[in-house]
Amino acid sequence: MKDEILYNLKQVHDRIENACKLSGRDASDVQLLLATKTVPAEKIRIAIEAGENLMGENKMQELRDKDSDLQHLNIERHFIGHLQTNKIKDVLKYVTCIQSLDRLNLAQELDKQLQREGRNLDVFVQVNTSFEESKFGLPPTEVISFIREIKKYETLKIKGLMTIGLLDVEKEKMRPSLKLLRKIRDEIYDAKIDGINDLKLSMGMSQDLELAVAEGSNLVRIGTSIFGNRFLGKEIWNENIAE
Ligand SMILES: *Cc1c(COP(=O)(O)O)cnc(C)c1O
Repeated sequence: MKDEILYNLKQVHDRIENACKLSGRDASDVQLLLATKTVPAEKIRIAIEAGENLMGENKMQELRDKDSDLQHLNIERHFIGHLQTNKIKDVLKYVTCIQSLDRLNLAQELDKQLQREGRNLDVFVQVNTSFEESKFGLPPTEVISFIREIKKYETLKIKGLMTIGLLDVEKEKMRPSLKLLRKIRDEIYDAKIDGINDLKLSMGMSQDLELAVAEGSNLVRIGTSIFGNRFLGKEIWNENIAE
C-alpha cells in the first residue's frame, strides 16, 4: 500500500510538472491538495510523511474521525465539500480554509462564529462553471456581486475561486469550465474591488489536472490518482451529495 501511494504521488507531481512545462509556468505556482474523502488516516499519513502538507475533506465527520491520527502532523486542512450552516462550528475546529463558500447566509454564519472565536478564515468562492444543476457553487454571473457583499465580513479572507469542472471522457469538453473560472477572475480584477487583486484558482482533479494547469490553476485537488478509486460498499462516492 505504501509503495503504491508513493508511486502515485510521484506520478501526480510529474503530471503537474509536465503540464507546467508545456504552458511555460513555474511548478511552484501550482499547489497539490490531497483530496482525502473516504481515505483512511493511515493512507493519508503515508502521503504526509512523504512531504505533502495540504489536504481537503468534504465532511465534518471525516475531519473529526481522522483528527486524532493526523492533528500532530504537519498538515493544513481545508474544507472542500458542501457545508451546512449547522456544521460550521465543528468544521472550524479542524480547518484553516473553506473552499466551498457559495452563499450569503453561509458567509454570514461563518463570520458570526469566527467573531466569537476571535479569528479569521481563508475562503475560496465556489463557482458552478459546468452549469450542471446537481453541482453546488454560485452561478458565474453572481460572483462579482457576491464578492462585493462578503467583503463586509472582515473575518473572511478571500483567497480565490474554486470550481469542480465538468468531467467528461473527452478532453475538450472539460476545458470550458476551467477557462470560465479564469475569465471570472479576470472580470473580478477588471471590476477593481478594493483589496481584491490576488485570487488563486482552485481547479483540477484527477481527470482534468493537465487541462486545469494549462488554464491557470494554482491549486489542484487530487484524490483518485493518489489513493485509488473510492468505493463505499457498492456505491461510488458522489461529491455532490451533501451530508
Ligand atoms: C473528490 C474531490 C476532488 C478529487 O477528485 P478526484 O477525481 O478523486 O481526484 C476534488 N475536489 C473536490 C471538491 C472533491 O470533492
